Amino acid sequence: MPEESLGIRPLNRQSTPAPPARDELEESRRRQLIEVTIDSLAEVGYVGSTLAQIASRAGVSPGLVAHYFSDKDGLLAASFRTLARRVGQRVRARLAQAATARGRIQAVIDANLAPEEFDQRTGSAWLAFWGQVLHAEGLKRVQKVYQVRTLSNLRHALKRLVPAHEAHSLAAMIAAMIDGVWLRAALSNWQEADSEGARALLTAFVDGRLREYALPDRAGAGTGAGAGTGGGAGADNGNGTGTAPSATPSFYAARKPAAATTITSINPATGATLAQLAVDGPAQVDAAVGRALEAQRLWAAMTGAARARVLRRAAELLRARNRELAELETRDTGKPIQETIAVDVASGADCLEYFAGLAASLAGEHLDLGPGAFGYTRREPLGVVAGIGAWNYPLQIACWKAAPALACGNAMLFKPAEVTPLSAIALAEVLREAGLPDGVFQVVQGYADTGRLLTRHPQIRKVSLTGEVGTGKAVMADAAATLKHVTLELGGKSPLIVFDDASLDNAVSGALLANFYSAGEVCSNGTRVFVQRRIKAEFTQRLQARAAAMRVGDPMDPNTQVGALISEAHMEKVLGYIARGRAEGAQLLVGGHRVSTGDLANGFFVAPTVFDGCQDDMAIAREEIFGPVMTLLTFDDEDEVVARANATEFGLAAGVFTHDLTRAHRVIARLQAGTCWINNYNVTPVELPFGGVKMSGLGRENGRAAIEHYSQLKSVYVAMGDVDAPY
Ligand code: NDP
Repeated sequence: MPEESLGIRPLNRQSTPAPPARDELEESRRRQLIEVTIDSLAEVGYVGSTLAQIASRAGVSPGLVAHYFSDKDGLLAASFRTLARRVGQRVRARLAQAATARGRIQAVIDANLAPEEFDQRTGSAWLAFWGQVLHAEGLKRVQKVYQVRTLSNLRHALKRLVPAHEAHSLAAMIAAMIDGVWLRAALSNWQEADSEGARALLTAFVDGRLREYALPDRAGAGTGAGAGTGGGAGADNGNGTGTAPSATPSFYAARKPAAATTITSINPATGATLAQLAVDGPAQVDAAVGRALEAQRLWAAMTGAARARVLRRAAELLRARNRELAELETRDTGKPIQETIAVDVASGADCLEYFAGLAASLAGEHLDLGPGAFGYTRREPLGVVAGIGAWNYPLQIACWKAAPALACGNAMLFKPAEVTPLSAIALAEVLREAGLPDGVFQVVQGYADTGRLLTRHPQIRKVSLTGEVGTGKAVMADAAATLKHVTLELGGKSPLIVFDDASLDNAVSGALLANFYSAGEVCSNGTRVFVQRRIKAEFTQRLQARAAAMRVGDPMDPNTQVGALISEAHMEKVLGYIARGRAEGAQLLVGGHRVSTGDLANGFFVAPTVFDGCQDDMAIAREEIFGPVMTLLTFDDEDEVVARANATEFGLAAGVFTHDLTRAHRVIARLQAGTCWINNYNVTPVELPFGGVKMSGLGRENGRAAIEHYSQLKSVYVAMGDVDAPY
């Protein structure tokens, strides 16, 4: 239809700018009212800032203000959000520029204490809001989001610099200091400190705290601290010359380039670069989700039996490529080939095969509701789900997440840990070769930022993480915004209890498996070994002899029993714990040092380490070290050991060695752990659900239980007669 006939004049289109669209006008009016509110708060405070007063300042009617914000609370919450968003944007911009973990901490400090925040107008408005946070629900929510974000940014950076448990308290301290310094300055009417002074104060505080971690008793550097001092019985590779660990692991800084556009995968046994990969950002993740959404519809429409065939073929292909993939995993993780060739690939294949077996039998149930109706349930996939992996069992973790997800008809985006990015790519190839449609399993690469893109993505329905407790909390908080299903496989500090009637040699084998497999980098490790007093001396003697004889060496050598730790920074953390154990008075029986002789000089090797004479409150007996460090503890009776074993925030695993099976079951029933062993340790057949309680996680992997976590139920009521309505 010609425009003239609509009464629209076709002239002057190009010379007269088009009037702003209605939405734009509304938005600009909202923004104007928020700015006026901030002015008002700065001048007359919270109580004085009434709707009428703000309307008159803005030259509009109170009704119009109410139209946009409902009431005063709505207007003030929107204004508070604006202030918080501005700081948030500044933080993000500075974080993007920061090249190191220390730089990221500074970014948070600098953005929060920037001159703009000390400006009289902004500062007074903030102050007015802080005073009301306790009384106004809307403000409380904004403040909470702002606080959680600040803490999360700080924690994430600090985790690169200090042990994880310290990162939490130090982040809280820095956040409190930022608030405190700002508040004092505001209350003194900006006399007590300006932006520059406040930032200098915080910078000095953070540097001071980080320096403390470089001191011998905190970080394990230097003489007497156990790193390269030659103390201890030593493993057969002897003692390395030792290098002093530094507080700021340059390794991480070097690994994460300024713009964080690439990942460099390094062989931790040699320091050699294995590969460089591009980091996936928002655009790539969005595109991958788009592909997954489309592919998932096709995959879910296939029968369970057809999906099973693909998974079974993938299991066969993994087994056929066992050696090649084991070697890849050994190079990427530093784990000995004698482990990866026997366990890592095989356990991934077992998992694919097991869930292939379940895929065809997934079903709901029929419910008889009397003669007039029946009901049934349908077990349906969730949609697109995300898996985020840790670095200790990269291929196994990818399979443990992918197999149940795919069996249920989901599509998965998987992000491996940035230090071990390679085997997930191989798994994607294997799945494709097995006939998995494109887009159903995709690997995204990147650092935690990429992980966050997954956990926050509105079209991803579930996230399954294997990682540290702190990461688990962050993931769960992020997933909450879109109410995602969450499975968390987190850390532990598990007890292994040896009663005096146990087979001593079996118990010693169990303790060695529970501590030194994968150089101690196993989440379920039984690092608190409680031994009953009567057999303690004999147990210790046999353990000491076998631990000291373990072979540390080149992971590619089939005779090597203990390979490299994942990174230099992680090795420094482990050596730091060894130093703390010695400083706290534990008796070093075996190991306790870096191994850097000969070909191992450029790798990150630590000798299997056993401490005796440990107390429950020592750091080495409380905190997850994730390295080859065993603590021996003595106990007298059953009630005592159960209480001590449970006295931890973790609850991943536990083990009991005894010939008295009644006692074994009684004790296991009382232990707070998700996965338990009687007369063995760290055996994880795919048939048994695996996971933790307390702070060690939520949900289960493996076994039929995993199906619950990758599917949802739909209930259907079917009427067989007329509808009985009372009206
Ligand atoms: P992390 O928690 O540091 O990292 C785990 C994964 O989460 C990595 O891919 C990491 O990316 C990513 N990530 C980190 N921060 C975030 C975030 N805020 N949002 C989304 N993703 C994020 O664990 P590690 O890799 O250091 O693994 C060791 C830990 O894993 C130990 O605590 C161990 O006990 C636990 N673990 C638990 C197991 C279990 O089944 N219970 C099994 C194996 C390990 P990036 O690496 O790029 O930072």
